[in-house]
Amino acid sequence: MSGKTDIKSLDLNEMEAFLSARGEKKFRAKQIYQWLHEKKVTSFAQMTNISLDLQRKLDEECELIVLKQELVQISKADGTRKYLFALADGNMIESVLMRYKHGNSVCVSSQVGCRMGCRFCASTLDGLVRNLAPSEILEQIYRIGEDIGERISNVVIMGSGEPLDNYENVVRFLSMVSDENGPNISQRNITVSTCGIVPNILRLAEERFQITLAISLHASSQEKRKELMPVANKYGIDEVLSACRTYFEKTGRRITFEYSLVGGVNDTGEDAGRLAELIKGMNCHVNLIPVNPIKERDYVQSGQSKVLNFKNKLEKNGINVTIRREMGRDIDGACGQLRKRFLER
Ligand code: SAH
Repeated sequence: MSGKTDIKSLDLNEMEAFLSARGEKKFRAKQIYQWLHEKKVTSFAQMTNISLDLQRKLDEECELIVLKQELVQISKADGTRKYLFALADGNMIESVLMRYKHGNSVCVSSQVGCRMGCRFCASTLDGLVRNLAPSEILEQIYRIGEDIGERISNVVIMGSGEPLDNYENVVRFLSMVSDENGPNISQRNITVSTCGIVPNILRLAEERFQITLAISLHASSQEKRKELMPVANKYGIDEVLSACRTYFEKTGRRITFEYSLVGGVNDTGEDAGRLAELIKGMNCHVNLIPVNPIKERDYVQSGQSKVLNFKNKLEKNGINVTIRREMGRDIDGACGQLRKRFLER
């Protein structure tokens, strides 16, 4: 980014400090903040209750981050929309809109690329390029909301990137996206998904957000998890689960475990039994995801009966389970697929 201030990444307190340092009154900060985060303008000139002088000054000193919609693919099956956005430096990111009865949900990316190396995931194939700024994460929601002309009520940080590998920016995003002077999205409607960076799960617990924490577990033993997720070499499955227990104690929020079923790899009755044993007694929920095959790897989905057997076995052990409805399969729905295909062209 340029040396200018990324004004859309300033929270309201920082906006006040920024403006008072330039001799402006406190109420101006709120006005400008609302222009950016409530009305979602794309230029200072649209801030009609701000003097031309101040508009000009802001234009000189600040960078106003606005994502450019490069492409949108709309699923014929379920109306899911997959967006490809260009950042100011030319990097590309993707975001997804999913339409549910309960509202519109946007899945945002937190980094350009990813360095976690999960074996089944397309986002990580070319490694990490850079972290996204809070403004760039917010903008994904703003542009999609403007595009469809409807309110966005839910957010999941499950796009490309590992949110807890971009901790400060993601935490700032979380407080700004739920701020009543901005998009005002309820924290209870926000989910952060992590591959299990233990120290930052513990830090996040201290922030006392009312968000949902989702853990990408994907295996029922440390050995199997290491095969699918290199991060397990650094933070073992037991450490991850213990951090989850702490997270629940501190926040009272039920943990979601994501488990992508990969045919012949982690989908046996034995796996289900071991998983039940691991998380027994925890206040949690398991989300089973049929793996979305990517062309770079030869992983396949588990058959229907395997999926149902897996679910039944967990339920017999008293565990809450849902099978994630697959959305957007016809539009490169899996993390990182669209961007990757675009870059290859
Ligand atoms: N880095 C975060 C969030 C991004 S991915 C995390 O690891 O949780 C969101 C979820 O989709 C994760 O559970 C991830 O493991 C899973 N995922 C990624 N690629 C997938 C694929 N091809 N099929 C099924 N699930 C996948």
